[in-house]
Amino acid sequence: MVDFVTRDKNDIYGMPILGFLFKNRHFLLVLKIVITALFVYAVVFGFIYPTKEQNVFTTGLFWGLFWPFFMVLTLAFLGRVFCGICPHGFLGKYITRFGLKKKMPKSLNNPFIGLMILFFGWWFVYYMFPGLYKTPYATALVFTVLTVFSFTFFFLYKDMAYCKSLCPIGLLTRAFSKVGFTKLETYKSSCQDCKTFECATACSYNLKPFTFEKKNSMEDCTLCMDCSSACEAVAFKAIKPSGSLVSKFKTMKAEVWAFILITAAITITMGFHHALGRSAIVDEFFWVQTARYFEGFINFGSIDTVGLFAFIYAVAISILLSVIGMFIASKIMNVSYEKTFYTLGYAFAPLFIIGGLSHMGEFFFYHYASDIVNAFIQAFGMETEYMKPLATRRDKWVHIFTVFNHIAVIWAFVIMFARIKLLDSTTFKKAIALPFASLLIVFYLGMNLYKVYVFKEYGVKKRGGHNHAQHQVQKGAHNGH
Ligand code: SF4
Ligand code: SF4
Repeated sequence: MVDFVTRDKNDIYGMPILGFLFKNRHFLLVLKIVITALFVYAVVFGFIYPTKEQNVFTTGLFWGLFWPFFMVLTLAFLGRVFCGICPHGFLGKYITRFGLKKKMPKSLNNPFIGLMILFFGWWFVYYMFPGLYKTPYATALVFTVLTVFSFTFFFLYKDMAYCKSLCPIGLLTRAFSKVGFTKLETYKSSCQDCKTFECATACSYNLKPFTFEKKNSMEDCTLCMDCSSACEAVAFKAIKPSGSLVSKFKTMKAEVWAFILITAAITITMGFHHALGRSAIVDEFFWVQTARYFEGFINFGSIDTVGLFAFIYAVAISILLSVIGMFIASKIMNVSYEKTFYTLGYAFAPLFIIGGLSHMGEFFFYHYASDIVNAFIQAFGMETEYMKPLATRRDKWVHIFTVFNHIAVIWAFVIMFARIKLLDSTTFKKAIALPFASLLIVFYLGMNLYKVYVFKEYGVKKRGGHNHAQHQVQKGAHNGH
């Protein structure tokens, strides 16, 4: 164990304030307890007050604070700090200590499981039944189910296996954290004579932080910071944005698929359904026309068919562009398809996580800020009026945040340039292959430019135009009920 190190300038643990926030054991414990208490309170509140009219706390906390700020914003810059304060991970460490400590069966030891739970269990259902999960009752129910699910697996299996394979958020945070500006490692000079490996012993995930630098990967590290309390040689460094992505590391198939599927399910589907769905020519789009076509002979009940087909098209387009583009690129470079796909696929990472900041910035002013404040006003019975949103969609200045869509594209191309250098081929072939490998990035750019064009040329749909509620009424009439 090392008691003292002279910290590098970029070591966050050595910085004033930040060093305290990220390293102080007592502060981190209090923070985790407070977050866990809020989590439990919001879930219980959701069951007691199940409707939106009664309860703004549960949804405000989960969808106004936890998702956009603790998850998207921190992931884009700081890495996986969300997992570091996650109530499931926090309590899971204690549960696993007293649990059965079995080895996770091979059939469950697969991070694609968590990704599929998120993709189908959340996003697919979300577009089919918009608003279903966003009621206080449904939010409380979802997080109760997840809590029971996670605690069962923490109890049964060792090494926090739930976080590594089954958590719907785990793979997402592991993958997208690579875009951030931080990395955890150890001071090599201090570690070389170490015989006790306290950092590894302290890690409930059975990781070895002293190997992270050599591997250029933090593997399943959730930034819980337990190792940094155990040994001073652990460092948490500020690095160049996406610093680890420009060098070699052991790639993981599930991470690349997380980039593609999450970009499709969130960024592209929302671009189709929510953004272009507000334009005056919404009825012209192919996902809307497909929905209308199938409604002609299938009764979809209360399913939002437009949302469903927007999702299906977004996913199909994203997968096809990635697969076909990478296949052509691999042929041009004469590198195996698998190597091309899983080396270059990391360049898709910024599309969701950096591009998502544009949505986050706008929605902070539209409703996240007021949702958060109102949630706490209600939760703690404060004698003050509810806050109004800071802006409306008519405030043009809010669109300044769309700049993040363009930053995401530049960022993705920079990573693509860096990663294509890691492949063994000639510069000429790489230059020809690059646009094909980047088809998903080009599509994302095209969609954003098209959105600007559509709203400039045709404007916003008139009130009373196409919307989901009206569409459902039309469907009811059409189906004869
Ligand atoms: S992987 Fe999932 S359960 Fe584990 S700490 Fe992260 S969010 Fe929490
Ligand atoms: S390596 Fe350190 S910060 Fe990462 S999970 Fe293990 S103990 Fe926590």
